[in-house]
Amino acid sequence: MSDTSPAPRRFRSSGRYSALRLLREALTGHRGWTPAWRKAEPRKQYQVVIVGGGGHGLATAYYLANHFGITDVAVLEKGPIGLGNVGRNTTIIRSTYYTPENIRFYDFSLKLWEGLEKELNFNAMVSQRGVVYTYHTDGQRDVMTGRANDMRLAGADCIELDRAALKTLIPPISLDNHRFPIMGAFMQPRGGTVRHDAVAWGYARGASEAGVDIIEHCEVTGLRQAGGRVTGVETTRGFIGAGTVCLAVAGHSSHLAAMAGIRLPIESHALQAFVSESIKPFLDVVLMFGAGHFYISQSDKGGMVFGGSTDAHNTYAQRGTQWIAQEVASEGVALLPELANLRILRQWGGIMDMTMDGTPIIGRLPLDGLVMNGGWCYGGFKAIPAGGYTTAHLIARGESHPLTTHMDVDRFAEGRTFDEPGIGPFPWMH
Ligand SMILES: Cc1cc2nc3c(=O)[nH]c(=O)nc-3n(C[C@H](O)[C@H](O)[C@H](O)COP(=O)(O)OP(=O)(O)OC[C@H]3O[C@@H](n4cnc5c(N)ncnc54)[C@H](O)[C@@H]3O)c2cc1C
Repeated sequence: MSDTSPAPRRFRSSGRYSALRLLREALTGHRGWTPAWRKAEPRKQYQVVIVGGGGHGLATAYYLANHFGITDVAVLEKGPIGLGNVGRNTTIIRSTYYTPENIRFYDFSLKLWEGLEKELNFNAMVSQRGVVYTYHTDGQRDVMTGRANDMRLAGADCIELDRAALKTLIPPISLDNHRFPIMGAFMQPRGGTVRHDAVAWGYARGASEAGVDIIEHCEVTGLRQAGGRVTGVETTRGFIGAGTVCLAVAGHSSHLAAMAGIRLPIESHALQAFVSESIKPFLDVVLMFGAGHFYISQSDKGGMVFGGSTDAHNTYAQRGTQWIAQEVASEGVALLPELANLRILRQWGGIMDMTMDGTPIIGRLPLDGLVMNGGWCYGGFKAIPAGGYTTAHLIARGESHPLTTHMDVDRFAEGRTFDEPGIGPFPWMH
């Protein structure tokens, strides 16, 4: 195995979704399908307990069992799996980051996305349609040029588009709106979207097949410790002992760490998203508005899926405020004026685990046997394959994966923060 890439998994053919199986089920009334993952009952003790059945928790379990040979694993989820942020996001994947360390981590994730459907034998609708960023000032162009160069140096892809090329690629774009005329754009062609629910289901199926217990409706209410070491978790279904406990609870990271008396440098903020009625093909890339914070893509069903900034205040309420909704709508219409004709079908929110430097945390917490995967800010969906793989590496090998050595929690105390957005410790501004 190389330092950064997982070795190919030994293929376990369930035959479940093969062409032959589909044909057989179609001819026999679809009576042969079984649940994709086992509904497991909790046992008294596991080698590893993962708290949180979101993308990162399930991916960590999958890689532990299938790539690191640790199958004595339980994933504890307080509700049904996949209803947290993994099922609430706008599904964008990319590796357009600023610091070389983060570019390398997110590009590793992009490479794993590229092989994920084969790895899981599950259709996750990975669509590398390209992610486009507009720029509106000379200064912005210079910053984006620097980022594009850093990306290329790290082996990621990024190209520049002039106004004519942008208009050809996105005919409905308004290049000359009065407040924010567009000067050009940068594009990562390998970026795109992935069907978010399928990611949770695919990893859950692969983990369950390998022997992992996925235990739904099991909320962790306390962390038990003895002699400076975590010994297990208190849950709504009783105590479960564990050699290692991994927190993968995204927006609830501070809450869970506090159960062990640990105060994390994380704030929880709501991020909301919107989906419109379905329309004919209108936009075949992911488009980001450089003059504000707005991003949009079109789903395969035809709905326009879009969002903007997090709400500035701290909250655990899974909804957003009206003023962010207004800001998102006005930015969208400045970029693509025809959006003004659309009706919004749904709006929802999720809780973001915002770190003070915009870089995630994958590392040990100051209690033996307790590790965490979190601090994903508003961009942890794209990181699920890499986050899961590197967290599994940390648990199995007892040391950080080479791509995540800068993501330890001690960096905040020791002044080694990774200021990804370059605006200091103000999560509401990220
Ligand atoms: C509106 C929106 C748009 C976004 N858009 C993007 C995007 O386009 N691209 C991108 O990369 N990222 C995006 N994100 C961010 C991304 O979705 C998250 O960073 C990522 O999903 C977080 O990791 P996760 O999947 O493991 O989290 P989650 O799915 O939230 O998993 C955490 C799980 O922990 C469970 N849990 C919490 N407390 C407990 C407990 N005490 N006991 C047991 N279980 C518990 C929760 O129920 C939850 O299921 C977006 C997020 C939102 C909300």
